[in-house]
Amino acid sequence: MDRLFDTHVHLDFSQFDGDREELLEELRLQRVAVVNVGVDLASSEASLELARGRPYVFAACGVHPHDAKAFSPETEQRLEELLRAGAVAVGEFGLDFYRDLSPREKQIAAFRAQLRLAKRLDLPVILHQRAAEEAFLEVLAEEGPVRGVVHAFSGDVALAQRLVKMGLFLGIGGPLTYRKNEPLRQAVRKVPLARLVLETDAPFLPPEPFRGKRNDPLKVRLVALRLSELLGMKPEELAEATFENACRLFGVSPSF
Ligand SMILES: [Zn+2]
Repeated sequence: MDRLFDTHVHLDFSQFDGDREELLEELRLQRVAVVNVGVDLASSEASLELARGRPYVFAACGVHPHDAKAFSPETEQRLEELLRAGAVAVGEFGLDFYRDLSPREKQIAAFRAQLRLAKRLDLPVILHQRAAEEAFLEVLAEEGPVRGVVHAFSGDVALAQRLVKMGLFLGIGGPLTYRKNEPLRQAVRKVPLARLVLETDAPFLPPEPFRGKRNDPLKVRLVALRLSELLGMKPEELAEATFENACRLFGVSPSF
């Protein structure tokens, strides 16, 4: 595989404090482009910092549903400033009714506000959805067409097809390799390849055989291999197709 695009990483997290610079250099050498995704204002700022001077690292700025309780007009104003400072997407944001770390009505308000902000700035979105399928689809339908990706997609064929019909990409990561995830493997076969992008969500969701360990963006290769098997493609072709999908989604052209 000549080059790969990992569309969802958190390299600013403390899990990378010991080897961040070495890892970034390794990504350049192995030709792995990444989008570093903010989860609050501080990590959004850190994402922009990581992307500075690295034409294979891109920044997304957003407020995760876990932090929606603190989302205020001031948060939104600061977020807009950060987005205008060179972010390629708004994210990650959305709904998480699994952990419910913010009240649901606050999550929905922050979700709507960031969808509108993305539309106003003409940026794609990076969406998080967990155990909130119904409310998620309802808000998306109400807020109108949106460009973006549902990250760490893990639903079935029906959900995959609904999201694709709305114009969204699906972010496919480590869970594709987990033994119990047969519905996900069936779903990705029914989605046009043009709507799939790869991700790791590093340091989280490591692919097999690294479960329980820290994930990193070099392991996106294992996700690409598994997906190429499932789709009956050569790994090289799958890597290139998903690389180009990510470039199209975020409007970027990485260099290493
Ligand atoms: Zn994430």
